[in-house]
Amino acid sequence: MNNPLLLLIILPVSLFLGLIFAYDMSRVVYTCPKCGKRFRAKWYKYLLSGHYGKDKVLRCPKCKTRQLCVVSYDQKL
Ligand SMILES: [Zn+2]
Repeated sequence: MNNPLLLLIILPVSLFLGLIFAYDMSRVVYTCPKCGKRFRAKWYKYLLSGHYGKDKVLRCPKCKTRQLCVVSYDQKL
């Protein structure tokens, strides 16, 4: 990896893919199992929180409890 031209290509592409990934993640709707609140997780929270498959440990904005939230497949709030 001493080719600067290769780095010039890889860097923007990986940055671009990272942005798409973050954008995609911020659109995912989770449902709180306790109160049924549907919410979107911020992309940085998505990256920081633990996950079990598609479900994630997130803090519910309504009841403020941290728990395993289920992905809503219809993606409607
Ligand atoms: Zn809740």
